[in-house]
Amino acid sequence: MKKIILSLLMILIAAATYAARPVKQWGQLQVVGSQLCDNNGNPVVLRGVSLGWHNLWPRFYNKKAIKWLADDWHANVIRAAMGIQIEDNYLENEELAMKCMTTVIDAAIKNDLYVIIDWHAHKMLTDEAKAFFGKIAQKYGKYPNVIYEIYNEPVEDSWESLSVYGKTIIDEIRKYDPDNIILVGCPHWDQDIDKAAAAPIKNVSNVMYTVHFYAATHGDYLRQRLTDAVKGGLPVFVSECAGMEASGDGPLAPEEHYKWINLLESLKVSWVNWSISDKNETCSMILPSAPATGKWTERQIKPWGKMVRKTLRKYNK
Ligand code: MG
Repeated sequence: MKKIILSLLMILIAAATYAARPVKQWGQLQVVGSQLCDNNGNPVVLRGVSLGWHNLWPRFYNKKAIKWLADDWHANVIRAAMGIQIEDNYLENEELAMKCMTTVIDAAIKNDLYVIIDWHAHKMLTDEAKAFFGKIAQKYGKYPNVIYEIYNEPVEDSWESLSVYGKTIIDEIRKYDPDNIILVGCPHWDQDIDKAAAAPIKNVSNVMYTVHFYAATHGDYLRQRLTDAVKGGLPVFVSECAGMEASGDGPLAPEEHYKWINLLESLKVSWVNWSISDKNETCSMILPSAPATGKWTERQIKPWGKMVRKTLRKYNK
């Protein structure tokens, strides 16, 4: 009886003090075939949340919010979306951008989380991206926590030009960091994954290609495209997704969203939800009345945020 009580107590303590330690558990990530794997070559699925544009919602770029997203939402990866457009972006205000990004990266390292450093742009700016990623790889390349996302969502660029851009930025990162995962965007808001699958970038390692979906807009056709790409051997990572229309607004489509999640889980593809921000739109997960530093109550989290928290807690145990 004593033993039973003791083990029950231990389970209760473990549940109450849940703390994901993904980097301690999985270490330096690598790509094996099409699969994201841990240090030992075992498959890994990262599931987490993206912060909104740093220049629109800098208030959520703080260490307490990151800790809360790990401890309470069970995120094992955080995406920091460094805005390259809209007012006060990285190009206009580098100081703010670097302060926000380094705060989140350092907090992720401290909390043993993976962190995606996202160049959140819709237009190609090769020289600026190359300079940024060179600098950031020198500073953070030694940490297994870091994942580089070199171009959020291309809109107008062809795959031919994106693969040239990708090779340029990857080579720059590899001067300083031989191994961390690099995510490459594909044409048309990260939907033409078939184009990347047909001609992946040559002579690179630990590179994955991103698909973004908004479940009420992107249905079976994009699920099929992603499935074909993965089964054809392309490493795919869903670095941004949400359960409403591509505008980020309109009604939630839970049924469509869970079709996506079920597919990604069956293929062992990682997924990151958009976004921790407080705009009056469906995809912003938090209300303006909520504090910046986490400890959000049910009443401060919007329906999409509740859905994400519930799903993360289900899968990230
Ligand atoms: Mg490294």
